[in-house]
Amino acid sequence: MELSRARAELDRIRVHLEDRERLTALGRLTATIAHEVRNPLTAMKMWLHMIRVARPDAAGLDHKCTMLSQEICRLERLVGEVLEVARPASLQRAPLQMPRLLDRTLDLMAPRMREKELRVCRRDAVTLPAVHGDSAQLVQVFLNLLDNAREATPRGGEISIQESLEQASEHGEVVVRVRDTGPGMPERVRGRLFEPFVTTKADGTGLGLYIAAGITARHGGRLELERSTDGGCVFAVSLPAMAGA
Ligand code: ADP
Ligand code: MG
Repeated sequence: MELSRARAELDRIRVHLEDRERLTALGRLTATIAHEVRNPLTAMKMWLHMIRVARPDAAGLDHKCTMLSQEICRLERLVGEVLEVARPASLQRAPLQMPRLLDRTLDLMAPRMREKELRVCRRDAVTLPAVHGDSAQLVQVFLNLLDNAREATPRGGEISIQESLEQASEHGEVVVRVRDTGPGMPERVRGRLFEPFVTTKADGTGLGLYIAAGITARHGGRLELERSTDGGCVFAVSLPAMAGA
């Protein structure tokens, strides 16, 4: 009797704590959004003002429109990340070939890699089994990892992606490693990498790794920082391989 009362009390406390955690997270989210939305909006207002006042020629107009669209992209990304945290999309799963998914992700990233003159190397395993996954969400995982790798790596550096099959379970796991040649993980964020809002960047949201880890976990997989030295980081995404695929 005593025990069941204690258990009921524990459950009540747990629900209460979860509510409080959610509220605290929501409060921080609101503050972050307010702050993050204001900066690009201010920049967009300024570029529009310059277009109106300066009546630029074609080249000038082109540059100002590029700046405007960059700020719009920033807002789009922020809103997307916030939505993903507030209401994670359910998984639309299908058999996926990881190398093809990575090709598509790299195509999306190519212009931004070129901008920084970064070389992207691929090292594929000969044959890999399929993964039962949501392609749009898994692309998001690798976009987030590659974005961090791109931001960490100095101009002209190298980022590599390696896929392999490892026998951690009966059917094995498809493991994708993203390696950069940046300075490694800053000491002060190392223990809290996968928590929301942990960032060392002036315009970071600290949601990228949190979202990537959530998507990977919902696929029954793992996201890990496998190595961090002053020569760079290695992140590993491990996903269960499909049986007989
Ligand atoms: P954001 O990129 O918005 O800061 P993330 O969740 O993607 O948020 O990353 C959290 C923090 O982890 C970054 O601010 C950075 O300090 C650190 N980090 C992530 N990836 C790397 C990397 N490849 N090299 C060095 N530091 C990294
Ligand atoms: Mg990031």
